[in-house]
Amino acid sequence: MLIKFYGVRGSIASPGENTVRYGGNTACVFVKTSDNELFIFDAGTGIRQLGEDLSQILPTKAVNLLFSHYHWDHIQGFPFFQLAYRADQKINLLAAHLNEQNAHSVLTQMTDPHFPVPSENLASNVHVLSMDDEILLIGRNTIRTLSLNHPGGGSAYRIDSDEGSMAYVTDNELFPPQTPKTAYEDWLEYLKNVDVLIHDAMYLDHEKEKIHGWGHSLISEALNLAKDAKVKHLILFHHDPSRTDNELDEIGVQAQQWMEKNYPEGKVSVAKEGDKYTL
Ligand SMILES: [Zn+2]
Ligand SMILES: [Zn+2]
Repeated sequence: MLIKFYGVRGSIASPGENTVRYGGNTACVFVKTSDNELFIFDAGTGIRQLGEDLSQILPTKAVNLLFSHYHWDHIQGFPFFQLAYRADQKINLLAAHLNEQNAHSVLTQMTDPHFPVPSENLASNVHVLSMDDEILLIGRNTIRTLSLNHPGGGSAYRIDSDEGSMAYVTDNELFPPQTPKTAYEDWLEYLKNVDVLIHDAMYLDHEKEKIHGWGHSLISEALNLAKDAKVKHLILFHHDPSRTDNELDEIGVQAQQWMEKNYPEGKVSVAKEGDKYTL
């Protein structure tokens, strides 16, 4: 299983000299399994580059685009996804735990006055699918969903394959002020022993007061989750747009020290555009 990061930011794209190393694109993660199934988590601005890369190499296999939710930072790259304009391409848009009436919002953002090309003009074969409460089998890979704790809802995804497992859990507040849709114990069960966990780690402890209830987690909470669920490798994701490269370096160092002290069996990394992980 190959996992490659194309966008690691939350909220809004943030290019500039202070973000150039970790990258300024919003959420987009590419996964290719050993049986050549293709998954894309979210269509933030990072999906533009992914579309270019796939155009070079791709046969006409279906691409499965799984959405955590439909906030802008997770959908706004879709109109610039090159494969959507290819007649020989099948694209499945999948989502779970969201209002089905909103399932077409990825396409309806391509509407005047916001975008010149309406989605009806996309050459590709686009299917909008809902996978609520289902265990979906794609190739030899099992995909399970779980409801996020985020304003408006959303879904986490876990893929278990022959070569290992990964989970994509972003825009998730592990301990929200209101009753959570998914309680901490249920996250532990869902993420138990996963090889790679990509988790929302948008904020630092001292920022908690300001952001409590916004639907995001603290880095310290993500670290504890990794330890409690016996995650093998935690990747901190959905960085605040104003977090600088130097600050993310420091977050990485501190997270590493925490792991060595509290959960030495585990690994932790800070998500960076262009980084690849292989299982
Ligand atoms: Zn987001
Ligand atoms: Zn969101």
